[in-house]
Amino acid sequence: MRPILFYDTTLRDGEQTPFVVFSVEQKLALARQLAELGPDILEVGFPAASESEFTAVSRAAEELRGPVIAGLARCRTADIDTTTKALEKAQKPRISIVLPISDRHLTASLRLSRKQAEDQIGEAVRHARKFVEDVEYIATDATRTTESDLFSALDIAAQAGAATLVVADTVGCGLPEEIKSLFARLRARSAPSVRLGIHCHNDLGLATANSVAALAGGADQVEGTINGLGERAGNTALEEVAAILKYHESLGLTSNINFDKILETSHQVREVSGVVVQPNKALVGQNAFLHAAGMHQQAMLADPLTFEPFGPEWVGGTASLEDRIIFGKFLGKNGLKRLLALDGLELEEAALEGLVTRIRQAIERREFVSRRTVLEWAKAGK
Ligand code: MN
Repeated sequence: MRPILFYDTTLRDGEQTPFVVFSVEQKLALARQLAELGPDILEVGFPAASESEFTAVSRAAEELRGPVIAGLARCRTADIDTTTKALEKAQKPRISIVLPISDRHLTASLRLSRKQAEDQIGEAVRHARKFVEDVEYIATDATRTTESDLFSALDIAAQAGAATLVVADTVGCGLPEEIKSLFARLRARSAPSVRLGIHCHNDLGLATANSVAALAGGADQVEGTINGLGERAGNTALEEVAAILKYHESLGLTSNINFDKILETSHQVREVSGVVVQPNKALVGQNAFLHAAGMHQQAMLADPLTFEPFGPEWVGGTASLEDRIIFGKFLGKNGLKRLLALDGLELEEAALEGLVTRIRQAIERREFVSRRTVLEWAKAGK
């Protein structure tokens, strides 16, 4: 099995979500929770951006001893100096240097020639290497860059001493097959000591698929956030990538993620960020392990894997099937009768009809009606 490094950027790229602002204390509380989830690298912030960013990164660097602590820097000496200072007390510091390399970004955003950009990458990485061993270069907008321009920028970063090279699908326009083959070529031409990373966004709903494709193609590191938090359609949801590696053993890839911490971490990120998680979100959405269709419910009671790949305990959930079988508007008298029979309950026709009415009324009021509730009502009405 090949170990994959998980790089959590919930506190940096995740904070670029519209209306999300973490205070220093909130960042530290989240950093502690995220560290328990077991990412190999925790990017806490962008120290040169503000004083509070600097404080959050330096306090996390001083306190946390599990993951590598990373700080983001642009290709500027001042950014790198500030980041170095923020990471001073980290046991395992990493400086992650970012510079876009697509023609569009060089022209419209940076106003740099390709030669100037490449020189900046080389200088920035060399400068950072004076202070830390562990330097990462992130090639922004790499999937809208010609392969020769991308490889040229990555080579310059590697020669300057970057140990990790990251391909960023910044606007989420990559396709899994293309990204997989890109990484296969990149792996084949890179020194074995160079680590390759993938950083995806979800604009077309492919962030997780693209990240897994990169790993299958030879990438060593995946960057993302919890709940897929991030600007626009968000970043890769790291919990999804971890679950895919765990479920599909045939990929031959493993992670250090502590699965029993996924749900509580997801809840904390949701609470502190104020960003709701869509109910049908994989693994951590409110409905991810609920069953409302009558036929499914009966099958689930016979064998819980009929309509789930795995149970909620996989992600640290504790809800029993009793609380996960809920009743929807398609509830029928016969289906209810069969469900009750499974618990040895048999109601008179009138009591059964009364129960159906009671359930339907509760559903119309948008109340949560679980199997547990229905069993209680049925026993009381007997
Ligand atoms: Mn990003």
